[in-house]
Amino acid sequence: MSAVDPSLIERIIRDDVRAMGAYHVADSHGLVKLDAMENPYRLPPELRAQLAARLGEVALNRYPVPSSEALRAKLKDVMNVPDGMEVMLGNGSDELISIISLAASKPGAKVLAPVPGFVMYAMSAQFAGLEFVGVPLRADFTLDRAAMLAAMAEHKPAVIYLAYPNNPTGNLFDAADMEAIVRAAQGEVCQSLVVVDEAYQPFAQESWMPRLTTFGNVVVMRTVSKLGLAGIRLGYMAGSPEWLSQLDKVRPPYNVNVLTEATALFALQHVNVLDEQAAQLRAERTKLADALAALPGVTVFPSAANFLLFRVANAAQTFDRLLARKVLIKNVSKMHALLANCLRVTVSTPEENAQFLEAFNASLQD
Ligand SMILES: *Cc1c(COP(=O)(O)O)cnc(C)c1O
Repeated sequence: MSAVDPSLIERIIRDDVRAMGAYHVADSHGLVKLDAMENPYRLPPELRAQLAARLGEVALNRYPVPSSEALRAKLKDVMNVPDGMEVMLGNGSDELISIISLAASKPGAKVLAPVPGFVMYAMSAQFAGLEFVGVPLRADFTLDRAAMLAAMAEHKPAVIYLAYPNNPTGNLFDAADMEAIVRAAQGEVCQSLVVVDEAYQPFAQESWMPRLTTFGNVVVMRTVSKLGLAGIRLGYMAGSPEWLSQLDKVRPPYNVNVLTEATALFALQHVNVLDEQAAQLRAERTKLADALAALPGVTVFPSAANFLLFRVANAAQTFDRLLARKVLIKNVSKMHALLANCLRVTVSTPEENAQFLEAFNASLQD
């Protein structure tokens, strides 16, 4: 094997990239996997068989049709995208976030979002050479409207992200706070594109989608990942054709592959199955939150997502004790000062939720 000269790496790879840690995905082999907000349910066997037949017909020798017309039309219909609005597809919403960052990366441009929030907003801003401004939430994870408006006035961000509901906190921001921020970003305080990230919409049942026609500076981003199709990597963004036609120029033309497209179309034709799974998970969320809150020393925060954020006396210890019992959750306590001793657990099937609670109970006796 030929050795790679470290000075060559240094010369080519950006300093900030070399200084970074890699995005860490925990090894979940043999564990009850409650760390990544996945839907625990699969498609029922008869639908899987039908899907297999459908995928067998897909022309793998051809490039995808770049416009993905059929899938976009289906999404508009199923997701109630208002008339006159367009839809753009991404290889997961992670890619859409990168596309927004790239398209907006004028010299000196900034991206602003509440923190703690979804890490990809900051990462993709950094990769595209944009400055990221994080505005702390209040201690109860509500939006600090005054701090947001002050930061908007100071930094004049090109792009503002509002995750609705927020990850990793799980709560829906106050509607009036959101609207004040969107309005202020229409020129009064700054001129910004506001991206409302509705990755958890199936569990929140609240949406800015109907308001797209009212606010010309808003786009709504969603994904099928949390709905039960994390493996196919499909995100979408709805907004005015004026915005999307510009952003679409930055999109790699074949970013959504033919298998993803065919699978998503099929799944959306049976969206009632996914909707039912989401309804079950919402019911389980309530049960799990109540059971957790009843345990000594545990504070559970309100959630409109398919996960719960909760605080314990010692997050690292609780995490390790759960892992020793083969239950993997996410320790978010080091992500931000406001998340001190906080853990995040995905809401799953009644069986897996019970396994988690049992492991948690047992770990209290350690
Ligand atoms: C999971 C998540 C996404 C990313 O979803 P993908 O479509 O799987 O890339 C985007 N935003 C938030 C807030 C998320 O939690």
